[in-house]
Amino acid sequence: MQVIDQKYKIQGINLTDLAGKYGTPLYVYDGEKIQSQVTALKEAFSTVKMRIKYATKALSNINILKVIKDSGVGVDAVSIEEIKLCLHVGFEPKDIMYTPNCVSFGEIQEAVSLGVMVNIDNIPMLEHFGNEYGDSVPICIRLNPHILAGGNAKISVGHIDSKFGISILQLKHVLRVVDAYNLNVIGLHVHTGSDILDAEVFLKGAEILFEAAREFKKLQFLDFGGGFKVGYKQGDITTNIKELGEKVSLAFREFCEEYGKELEIWFEPGKFLVSECGILLVKANVIKSTPATTFVGVDSGLNHLLRPMMYDAYHDVVNVSRVEGPDRVYTIVGYICETDTIAADRRLKEIKEGDIIAIKNAGAYGFSMASNYNSRLRPAEVLLLNGKDHLIRKRETFDDILRNQELANW
Ligand SMILES: *Cc1c(COP(=O)(O)O)cnc(C)c1O
Repeated sequence: MQVIDQKYKIQGINLTDLAGKYGTPLYVYDGEKIQSQVTALKEAFSTVKMRIKYATKALSNINILKVIKDSGVGVDAVSIEEIKLCLHVGFEPKDIMYTPNCVSFGEIQEAVSLGVMVNIDNIPMLEHFGNEYGDSVPICIRLNPHILAGGNAKISVGHIDSKFGISILQLKHVLRVVDAYNLNVIGLHVHTGSDILDAEVFLKGAEILFEAAREFKKLQFLDFGGGFKVGYKQGDITTNIKELGEKVSLAFREFCEEYGKELEIWFEPGKFLVSECGILLVKANVIKSTPATTFVGVDSGLNHLLRPMMYDAYHDVVNVSRVEGPDRVYTIVGYICETDTIAADRRLKEIKEGDIIAIKNAGAYGFSMASNYNSRLRPAEVLLLNGKDHLIRKRETFDDILRNQELANW
């Protein structure tokens, strides 16, 4: 997002024009930003055999998946529906990794029948899998190294209380099951959660995974999950991807040498690839002063962007209708009957009724977590590519709210 000729633009397209053309609230995605993030990750790991498996759940519009596919990247899916979306877009089953948790064995069987590799995250499922398939279907095993990534228990999934993965403390038990069924374990996986700040945390997880990997003889890859941090506010420390790449690649090459085979290193970034590409454009409905603060009520809320309320996430906001004039301090809130603060105490260009506000870093876990709460319609989505805007999801209509509801007779 840049100011050119006194207008906020992405790829030369005026944001207030987009709001006028498609209405608000509106999700806008910069496809070129996704491509450049893929390139940055590939360059940082150019000295090892690195594979990217984009975490579909971050933003699952089929056009975004197509951009991902066209940039030579695979996917990680966490549900059978995500697998089907990816197949629909044209991903080969071999490019899809399925990392479910707490799903039925039936769903795992369906994934296997679609030709997708399963990342197994509990011992009973490993035994089920052994009974059903023996060594005929290769698998990956998800381990929990018990590391608290980023210090935020709401988004960290590798800590001791987490439901994810098989505890590294149960490794002996895992090995017994693998031996008993002669399971073909070709990959090991850890995903400690989002907001990993530095190479040191990553390497701590890596050491634990290397230690475990020595016990498995047929590995083809090690998967380090996602969790690369992106900058949400100015001055935020972001994962320095180049430094991370150098340090992790070095440790990985040393491990491969010791293991006696050149393995692939996999990552499953969600946020890193799509967070910064997205903005949510909303309109100021009302500017309301109370004795304590000046609220700006906008035509969206936690139904469309849950992260501020769910994770205390900070999202930068900009009044894209005004590039000049005085700043004032505002708290941006939604129109949902619920406390739904989007951004508190921000210095913004003076806001007038009808101004368009851009909420930044809304690409990841924005639309994909949106709901119809308060019987509100979900926003439209627009993708910008090569300087052109493409409508990739229509705005919902009232019919969508009624769809699947039956007025019963009694
Ligand atoms: C959510 C998730 C990711 C992506 O996490 P980000 O923080 O968006 O990078 C990767 N792998 C798995 C298994 C996940 O559940």
